[in-house]
Amino acid sequence: MTTKPMFDLAYTGGFAVGAFNVNNMEITQGIIDACAAEKAPLILQISKGARKYANMTYLRHIILAAVEEHPELPICIHLDHGDTVDLVNTCIKDGFTSVMIDGSHHAYEDNIKLVADAAKVAHAAGVPVEAELGQLGGIEEDVKGLDAEEYAKNLHKFLTDPNQAADFWKRSQCDSLAVAIGTSHGAFKFKHEAKLAFDVVEEIMKTCPGLPLVMHGSSSVPKEFLDLINKYGGAMPNAMGVPEEQIHMAVTKYGVCKVNIDTDLRMALTAKIREVFATKPGEFDPRNYLGPARDAITSMVKRKLHVLNCAGKADAVIAQWKKLGSPVPSYYKK
Ligand SMILES: [Zn+2]
Repeated sequence: MTTKPMFDLAYTGGFAVGAFNVNNMEITQGIIDACAAEKAPLILQISKGARKYANMTYLRHIILAAVEEHPELPICIHLDHGDTVDLVNTCIKDGFTSVMIDGSHHAYEDNIKLVADAAKVAHAAGVPVEAELGQLGGIEEDVKGLDAEEYAKNLHKFLTDPNQAADFWKRSQCDSLAVAIGTSHGAFKFKHEAKLAFDVVEEIMKTCPGLPLVMHGSSSVPKEFLDLINKYGGAMPNAMGVPEEQIHMAVTKYGVCKVNIDTDLRMALTAKIREVFATKPGEFDPRNYLGPARDAITSMVKRKLHVLNCAGKADAVIAQWKKLGSPVPSYYKK
């Protein structure tokens, strides 16, 4: 399904849907197993880098397998950080049910034009569009953000402007908006504990009533994984994320409907693999290190679903989807 039935409920329902980046089978299974156990709706998102790494044909079939295994789960397939209308078009033809077009690094008017062009194509196919306004710090694959220190120092300059957001929404025709409210991509987000700008979120909700908001760069960089990585030969000193209490507040009290999670998945996987390699140096069966890594993803995602307050919401989302007339993108009507 698209994100529409999910966000309809999430905006006022005090929860957000987790958007998890997938790159291979174990990551996908780890996420799906957690969502199935917690009866949670979910967004599986694929970046340009994931397409390049895994090959879209493989990713599509891994996701089709997940859908076949769990017909009871509301699942959306989303393009993370699309940068061209061409890529948006390709993803729609690949069966994506939601796309992001990120023009946040362009000049304001160019961002609007890019999103409006993408929205025209996507809406014609029944696919909703996420846009981004404002600037995040950190680095995520091809997405180069601002230097962490520079970002922290001048934070308010980079945050989403609530009045501009209203103009942007109207003219770009986006369906949801990724906002810069003090989060940052990657594992090395902050020098000090992050404080999200809830005042800005509140203002955006006033200037853009009903617009579902999205948080990127919201990994919490769990200490348990950080410690394992550093204990077993890794080098991630000073990694720091967004505290889970702040994310919980953003989704329960404000209109944040989608929270992106990528770094925490990577850390769970890496921590467990490092642990097996260090404690069982004779081990060379990939199942014996990818298996524990997959289990670690499952338990981490289970906890996240409670942070996002979306555990147990699957049935309600499906009911909302039916209420809307069970809409699917045109790809699925063939
Ligand atoms: Zn992002």
